[in-house]
Amino acid sequence: MIIPFNKIYYTGKEMEYIGDAISRGQVSGDGYYTKLVSTLIEEEFNVPRAFLTTSATHALEMAFMIIGIKPGDEVIMPSFTFSSTANAALLRGAKIVFADIDDKTLNIDIDDVIRKITGRTRAVVPVHYAGISCEMDRLADIARDYGLYIIEDAAHAVNAKYRGKSLGTWGQMGCYSFHGTKNYICGEGGALLINTDDKNLIEAAGIIRQKGTDRDKFLNGEVDKYSWVGTGSSYAPSDILMALLYAQLQVMDSITSKRKAVHDYYSCRLKRFAEEGVIRFTNIPEGCESNYHIFYILLKDEESRDMVIERLKEKGISAYTHFVPLHTSVMGQTLGYREGQLPVTERAGRCLVRLPIYTGMTALEMEYVMDSLEEILRVM
Ligand SMILES: *Cc1c(COP(=O)(O)O)cnc(C)c1O
Repeated sequence: MIIPFNKIYYTGKEMEYIGDAISRGQVSGDGYYTKLVSTLIEEEFNVPRAFLTTSATHALEMAFMIIGIKPGDEVIMPSFTFSSTANAALLRGAKIVFADIDDKTLNIDIDDVIRKITGRTRAVVPVHYAGISCEMDRLADIARDYGLYIIEDAAHAVNAKYRGKSLGTWGQMGCYSFHGTKNYICGEGGALLINTDDKNLIEAAGIIRQKGTDRDKFLNGEVDKYSWVGTGSSYAPSDILMALLYAQLQVMDSITSKRKAVHDYYSCRLKRFAEEGVIRFTNIPEGCESNYHIFYILLKDEESRDMVIERLKEKGISAYTHFVPLHTSVMGQTLGYREGQLPVTERAGRCLVRLPIYTGMTALEMEYVMDSLEEILRVM
């Protein structure tokens, strides 16, 4: 049996909505479907304002522009994340300060965040790895005490919650991804959530997203023509993509429950190996509602990890490592960071395997993955 790592799931409504977007003649940004999607996000996740963007990368870039990050500012984030998290701050000239992660969730270690706060720290960027929340209540308290912004990289975490509140809505801003590898997709797309009623932040976001113009005010009928009013770029996605996304978000809870079934089955089959200490696997702490974006296992060392991936591959199953910690990457080393600085992050970088998990996965496919993995783990 051949099991890919990921398989895109379509709900069946995508072509109808895309065709409709085309026949409406609104294929550029901010058309009919963009409005439907932003309203759905605002209502379902309880967000004051959601701006659809061309990617999560761009949402992160916008967030740092909006809060006016500049050279000399420091931004604390995990190293166990995607390059976009760091690039967005680096593009504004900020200094990136990497905090280690918590061994239990692979999310930012809040005690290490506290140790790394200085007088120049402006923002903290929690990344909700695998769709499982950071300890947001505690982080929010600390950010308040030190006067820091929280920009959530919630690229993995659309439709996941912490203590009943949607991820992406805990910080002043949150960034979602609808990239083709995520849970709810449109190919390339994202959203910037603004979680305050601060008119200035919302207006700044609108201007930055609309090429530095007050086009948003024009669309709302507040001005009779729009013009250049500030710096900005082009971050509004095509309405064709938003039509595709609307089809997905309309049934997001059913997508999540299909993924949960895979997660639950894997957890059940792997429990005894965890009890025997052979592996650890995705851990969803109390208070977290996951969207089951990733299912990972942690092996005891890099050699066993590579062997598991290799043996799964021989059986036709694609399983992957994940982030090369940013501080040990080529760019991280160029910036002056070194191996040895963040031990928990480095261990996750060496020992983690992501197993195939996708929305339309059949019972036979799940069973084959677990039978194969059991066979491998039994002799380790
Ligand atoms: C996927 C991802 C991004 C980037 O998302 P895009 O929409 O592809 O730009 C950013 N951060 C994390 C943690 C991601 O996994």
